[in-house]
Amino acid sequence: MEQDPEQGLQSSLVSRQVQRHRIRTEEPLLGSLYLTARRAGLSDQMTMNLAGILSWEIDLGRQLRKNDRLAIIYDKIKSPDGELLDTEIQAVSYRGRNAELEAIRFERADGQSSYYNPDGDNLRRELKRYPVDYTRISSHFDLNRRHPILGVRRPHLGVDLAAPTGTPVYAAGDGRVVERGRNGGYGRVVSIEHGSGYKTLYAHLNGYARGLRVGDRVQRGQLIGYVGQSGTATGPHLHYEVIVNGRHRDPVKVDLPKAEPLTDDYLAKFLSHAKPLVQALRDPDSGDDEIKIASND
Ligand SMILES: [Zn+2]
Repeated sequence: MEQDPEQGLQSSLVSRQVQRHRIRTEEPLLGSLYLTARRAGLSDQMTMNLAGILSWEIDLGRQLRKNDRLAIIYDKIKSPDGELLDTEIQAVSYRGRNAELEAIRFERADGQSSYYNPDGDNLRRELKRYPVDYTRISSHFDLNRRHPILGVRRPHLGVDLAAPTGTPVYAAGDGRVVERGRNGGYGRVVSIEHGSGYKTLYAHLNGYARGLRVGDRVQRGQLIGYVGQSGTATGPHLHYEVIVNGRHRDPVKVDLPKAEPLTDDYLAKFLSHAKPLVQALRDPDSGDDEIKIASND
């Protein structure tokens, strides 16, 4: 009996491949995203990933409401022996009173992946909306404001994000540090140029991230300093400005630049990839189920 050596190699490769189990889950929102994710069976790591996806569009501290609907399609990636290697969120929908989102994961041929809305717009923004985990907005952007301490008309060119002294402040996006130092009433300031005409400014800092210098390249989410009340400030907060082509804009409302759109041929691939996922997300009758899919999907 002659055995085809190539055939043997093929089947041993196939049997060594990882397996994916696709799962759809839909839950009403409980007290918090964390509790909801726990009930849906998500690991802590997946919950972090989920929060990362949702937070591109949704203010998780303020816009989530009890009984909003959260649907997730994810893959459990297992070794041939059945050991859980990884989980990957393929699609998410959030339907709520104050917030709506549909996100589909798509990986390009170069291995770069991101989450897109069903039309193929990248959900990732070059800038995060808020560079600090704040407790409340203590003062809004206002071009006609009277200064609370000086009593004179003094435009408020940013938003004041109240937070305890020492709270970490992160770069809103990738860029280059163009200012780090004292600047009059602003106290300790860091400014970052992001390209595409965007610049951000962080004022009243208690201190700077260790080693941060003018000219440094920073990445989105990198620690740049700490909340304080240096300069003219009535309490600890981050004064945050977004400047677009030299003009101050309201950081809460300004359109944030979107990251890399899909090229035309990727867009076509994305749309056919997304269609069944979007259908499964929207179909309330799909219920919670587990679907075995081809391992090379
Ligand atoms: Zn301010």
